[in-house]
Amino acid sequence: MRYISTRGQAAPRAFTDVLLAGLAEDGGLFVPESWPRLGPADWRALRGLPYPVLAARILSRFAGAAIPEAVLERIAREAYAGFGHPAVVPLIQLETGLFVQELFHGPTLAFKDMAMAVLGRLFEHELAARDAHVTIVGATSGDTGSAAIEAFAGRERVRIVILHPEGRTSEVQRRQMTTVTARNVLNLAVAGNFDDCQDLVKALFADAALRAELGLAAVNSINWARIAAQVPYYVAAALALGGPDREVGFAVPTGNFGNVLAAWVARRIGLPVARLVVGSNRNDILTRFLDSNDMSVRPVEPSLSPSMDIQVSSNFERLLFELLDRDPAATAATMEGFRAEGRMAVPAPVWHRARGLLHGFRLDDAGTLAEIARLHAACGYLADPHSAVGIAAARARPAGQGVPMVAMATAHPAKFPEAMEQATGLRPALPTRLADMFARPERFTRVPNDLASVRGAVREFAAG
Ligand SMILES: *Cc1c(COP(=O)(O)O)cnc(C)c1O
Repeated sequence: MRYISTRGQAAPRAFTDVLLAGLAEDGGLFVPESWPRLGPADWRALRGLPYPVLAARILSRFAGAAIPEAVLERIAREAYAGFGHPAVVPLIQLETGLFVQELFHGPTLAFKDMAMAVLGRLFEHELAARDAHVTIVGATSGDTGSAAIEAFAGRERVRIVILHPEGRTSEVQRRQMTTVTARNVLNLAVAGNFDDCQDLVKALFADAALRAELGLAAVNSINWARIAAQVPYYVAAALALGGPDREVGFAVPTGNFGNVLAAWVARRIGLPVARLVVGSNRNDILTRFLDSNDMSVRPVEPSLSPSMDIQVSSNFERLLFELLDRDPAATAATMEGFRAEGRMAVPAPVWHRARGLLHGFRLDDAGTLAEIARLHAACGYLADPHSAVGIAAARARPAGQGVPMVAMATAHPAKFPEAMEQATGLRPALPTRLADMFARPERFTRVPNDLASVRGAVREFAAG
């Protein structure tokens, strides 16, 4: 099992190389050189397995010879042991033919934990095999940073530094990062906004000497291992609903296109999936593309579903590569044009192909609140604003008679108490395992919005 870059200028690599590299050196994203293929008998053999075992079996198809399946199974068992639900990814029925799969029972109550918990242990395993160390550096506006800190806290051979914009994350998100006391975690509160944090991280990575000195690594959403670790829950849902002998449809609240790409991968490797719906809020670049071949960048507008407030869905490049018949030159040219002009020129046949694979759906804040209220009134279900977009997408774009739709629930409603209260009059409580978060001491280092200061803080931490 080897991986190639969507832009064609990187040597093929093993799963573990791709895990540690993140982005390919030609600026492309890693994809399998050829897709694994599972047939009906393979899928049937996975029915009824505990989720971590299922996850290891699927991950093994992507890891190939690079990691033994027994190691993957141990990693998956450990990764999901701390989740707040024995089924890990429970599937709940909302109405006839409509289900929700909850991906938010991890330590930070958002779906990022599903992949990040596995990634932390994969890094630890691979770094031990290589007798190497890395310093992970990342910027966050909230969910990704907290999931990464949870996943990497206390891991050997890894230090993790997360920059967040001081005063601009929610209190729950900040405390999820700053109350972690492990010695290998550094929280930097930057006097600036999220874009400043991202620019500082980019500048650190651009410093080749520093990158080599500290072994800088990234775990952002383009890391292939994160996509691979998101495929198993689509398999679990399909098998629970009669797959592979019955098709299912999925609706996914989408930001960077990582989660819905994993659904597409599940279908690509043979899972019978009748329909994929991409849900967006008013930041609807993907829906505009699917409706009218308009992939143009617009300013980000804040919404009730902040993890979907994006301009550019970075993982889309992987699907584009497939839509362009895996032509790396055409992919590179299209992506470079997109970067230069802020809009993507996709030939009509390619666009039609995209529309054959994905359906778009958009919901503004008023619609999101109405959907949360409707669900609560109809069946007592509390969906957070991101999940509500996914559920509304599933209802609006059913896959057809007798084909169940599964919406992905990506955050726990207690992460968004204001929106929940506005829609339902209820403030959902944090699960008891997190309830003491407001009493725990916080630890972070304030830094000015300035590269030299940030570099100094990272160096000092790495030396300690
Ligand atoms: C990250 C996130 C999303 C978007 O997922 P992508 O993989 O970026 O498309 C949706 N909902 C929540 C709660 C998230 O944290």
